[in-house]
Amino acid sequence: MPDETVTPAPALGAKSPFELRVDLGKGVPETDVRSALKTGEMGFLHSFTTGSAVDGPGMRVVAWTTGCMWRCLYCHNPDTWTLTNGVPVSVAQAAEELRKYRTGLGVMHGGFTLSGGEPLMQHRFAARLFAATKEMGIHTCLDTNGYYGEHLSDAELETVDLVLLDLKAWDAERHERLTGADNGPTLAFARRLAERRRPVWVRYVLVPGLTDDREEIAQIARFAAGLGNVERVDVLPFHQMGRFKYERLGIPYQLGDVEPPSQELVEGTCEAFRAAGLKAY
Ligand code: SF4
Repeated sequence: MPDETVTPAPALGAKSPFELRVDLGKGVPETDVRSALKTGEMGFLHSFTTGSAVDGPGMRVVAWTTGCMWRCLYCHNPDTWTLTNGVPVSVAQAAEELRKYRTGLGVMHGGFTLSGGEPLMQHRFAARLFAATKEMGIHTCLDTNGYYGEHLSDAELETVDLVLLDLKAWDAERHERLTGADNGPTLAFARRLAERRRPVWVRYVLVPGLTDDREEIAQIARFAAGLGNVERVDVLPFHQMGRFKYERLGIPYQLGDVEPPSQELVEGTCEAFRAAGLKAY
């Protein structure tokens, strides 16, 4: 797909990923969508946000991709599930956007994070964008559920300085109930990252009544600690900031009555990870 068909980049800026965005790439012909996924010349992005201090080390620019193969009950960005809700952007455009921040990101010990949605739904685009970003000397970070990790080659993994790996549940049935998918590929990707000594930060979303089972958390903690490459664990308290998106999109939302976890529950969960020898926050 030639660059001149691309929607201009201005629509990419967003105050936060919590902005509801739909149908931004709806006019893109199906054949172009398929070609984009195959070649990675073009990607679909929900938005770019700047100044994030929670998506990797230092201050980050984050590109939020659209498209996800999972349907996590607690997902707070269901508008990112559909690929064509995103803006079509070429690798060159995305890299140009990042170039603007190169110096500042270096000063602030930050970098670029590709998040989503699930970035590896667009693994060819992700690989090309990471390569372009590394060439600019910017620290790169991939925030992923790991399910499509096998689609990145070993050489491509070398262009990712840090993986933020979401581990959602240990028990296979629980994982399937929570996400709609098997956790086998994610655990396999975690082991591969360990073998290749790629740095990982584990992310664990804590939802009262859903992901607060102590033994389950202990299992994940033991697994993560045993890998040897997990630098830290971020326990992410569930919140209701994405609820309005379900209402606006007409998607049934099952967690309407769930409260965010108490400070005690968050601290207790961090302690469970620390007990396995990990740093947890
Ligand atoms: S993997 Fe992430 S983007 Fe996909 S449904 Fe789960 S929380 Fe949402």
